[in-house]
Amino acid sequence: LAAEAGLYSSADQVVLLTPDTVASVLRNNSAALLVEFYASWCGHCVAFSPVWKALARDTREWKPAVDLVAIDCAFEENSRVCRDFGIAGYPSLKVNLSVVSASMSAGFPRDVLGLRHLIIRKIEEHHDSWPPACPPLEAASKAEIDSTVQTNSMEYLALVFETEDSYVGREVTLDLLQFSNITVRRVLKSERELVSELEVTDFPSCYLRRRDSNFTRLHVLNEARTFYSYALQRLPGVVRSGKSKPVTSDLLQNGTQVQWRPFDRSGVYMSDLESALHYSLRVEVAARSVIAGPALDALRSYISVLAKNFPGRPMVKRKLQSLDAWMKSWEEGELPYSSLRAALDQSNQTAALPRGVRWVGCQGSRPHFRGYPCSVWTLFHLLTVQALETGSSGPLEVLWTMRRYMHNFFGCRYCATHFEQMAEENMDSVTMLSEAVIWLWARHNQVNNRLAGDLSEDPHFPKIQWPPPDQCRECHGVKGGGEHAWNQAQVLAFLRSHYSAQHLNMTYLE
Ligand code: FAD
Repeated sequence: LAAEAGLYSSADQVVLLTPDTVASVLRNNSAALLVEFYASWCGHCVAFSPVWKALARDTREWKPAVDLVAIDCAFEENSRVCRDFGIAGYPSLKVNLSVVSASMSAGFPRDVLGLRHLIIRKIEEHHDSWPPACPPLEAASKAEIDSTVQTNSMEYLALVFETEDSYVGREVTLDLLQFSNITVRRVLKSERELVSELEVTDFPSCYLRRRDSNFTRLHVLNEARTFYSYALQRLPGVVRSGKSKPVTSDLLQNGTQVQWRPFDRSGVYMSDLESALHYSLRVEVAARSVIAGPALDALRSYISVLAKNFPGRPMVKRKLQSLDAWMKSWEEGELPYSSLRAALDQSNQTAALPRGVRWVGCQGSRPHFRGYPCSVWTLFHLLTVQALETGSSGPLEVLWTMRRYMHNFFGCRYCATHFEQMAEENMDSVTMLSEAVIWLWARHNQVNNRLAGDLSEDPHFPKIQWPPPDQCRECHGVKGGGEHAWNQAQVLAFLRSHYSAQHLNMTYLE
């Protein structure tokens, strides 16, 4: 509990250190460790914590080889551990338990890029304690590449050609660490014979060879780490280690009990949205036999936001509006679910909410994948965009509605807790309707990052930083040092079009 109360939580992909875990985390760990010793009351540490969290997200794929750790030395119970490591000032970093700097003001980089490079340098310096899970990072020679090609053992071999001072090749190698059927090596510009054999002219650039074929250049939007890693992780046959191999759509059909509905991955389906409404109002809310207090307020605001902003079929819109009016006229402090249900189910040809779920864009390859949570995200993205288009809600109304719905009703309590933590962090900084759209997009990507590779991830629908370059080219760019950068203006434009009423796909509706 004490560890959770510091600047980081278990959702940050940072290992939280306590006296009980110090031995197992620090001494018996085969990964390279980067440990931040901080005090939660120290302003520098508070200011540094977003960088540490961003670094943890950024190097998430490096995990078997590199672990980010944090310990709050302000907790009395932790102070002994901090003392034993000779920590005098905060924040202090130790890499593989050798001090990088014990100084608060100088000594180690304060940005994600610099810290990432520091990790790589430290792994290379500590060659004698090379993390077993870490692949070779040194540049490959022509002889090595030739011999790998001759054995023809690897499905894919990717070569990142670069100058000596570039980190891209090593970063991409670590980004692919958790993926099978592919090997990544960096090759230096000075490896002239290989450079001229493949006619390499740009540094960096990436060349790919599939078993039994020749090297060809990998085409990406920008010659930068994120773009190479994204493209390589999604090659056919490249799978996250330990995950089942992606299968064809034939097998997909066999995996589910219901018939597979072919769909366009870039579409937003009304059938998913109506299914979300059915499930939330007829199943999830039904978990409470009586709704009262904050839960009743949350439900009122949910139905009111839907009545104002849901761009549904006329029949569904009318039903939501009549339900909203009915809710507003309910004056008692307690609402039995049976009464709500009667009002919801009272329907005619002009006003009704269809029953049952029919997932389309939210179909999973197995019954336990995707479905309802996918439709909840879709619904609330749509609502933030609709509120922006119609101007019918205040900047925070949809977000507060989602937050309260999650808190009071969402069946996945773990998800609700994490969402609440994110909302507490900075939801109040939203002051415009367009910022609400971007806030939800960014938080969803944060969740995607945390869940990538998780057991709950459908191998056919890997969690990615969304939208990917193939869906929105203009959304992606690079900043100094080749770091990936979102073009937020373009992202907003993309979201407004993707979640627009005109873009909704009306197939598969009853
Ligand atoms: P989803 O992540 O559900 O996304 C649905 C669709 O939204 C995608 O297909 C894509 O078209 C679009 N999309 C993806 N990213 C974005 C984006 N950044 N902006 C706009 N649109 C986007 N599961 C857990 O295991 N742990 C959790 O802590 C957790 N927290 C959750 C919190 C909330 C509020 C919700 C609604 C769900 C949460 N889930 C959590 C479930 C999880 O996020 C996914 O919904 C679920 O695993 C299904 O994933 P999916 O592949 O269908 O895609």
